[in-house]
Amino acid sequence: MVRVLSLKKNRPEYLRRVRAQTLAWINGRPYHDPVTNECCPDFSCCKPSLFTKDAEQRQREGLEMLRREGADMPPNG
Ligand SMILES: [Zn+2]
Repeated sequence: MVRVLSLKKNRPEYLRRVRAQTLAWINGRPYHDPVTNECCPDFSCCKPSLFTKDAEQRQREGLEMLRREGADMPPNG
């Protein structure tokens, strides 16, 4: 998994991918990131039954997660 480690060192690119993936999940389109090999916040990309159906909850938890990762949204998305 050398690619994943080196991508994590390349923080800006990693954060871009985390942000795009989380936004897609908030918008109801969860996917598994093939580059970072990471799941969306509720793992529904790999286990659809875990999908968080409440859009407000997805937004709240997604934004919270981005803040934790230091991947806050730029002002215009
Ligand atoms: Zn996944």
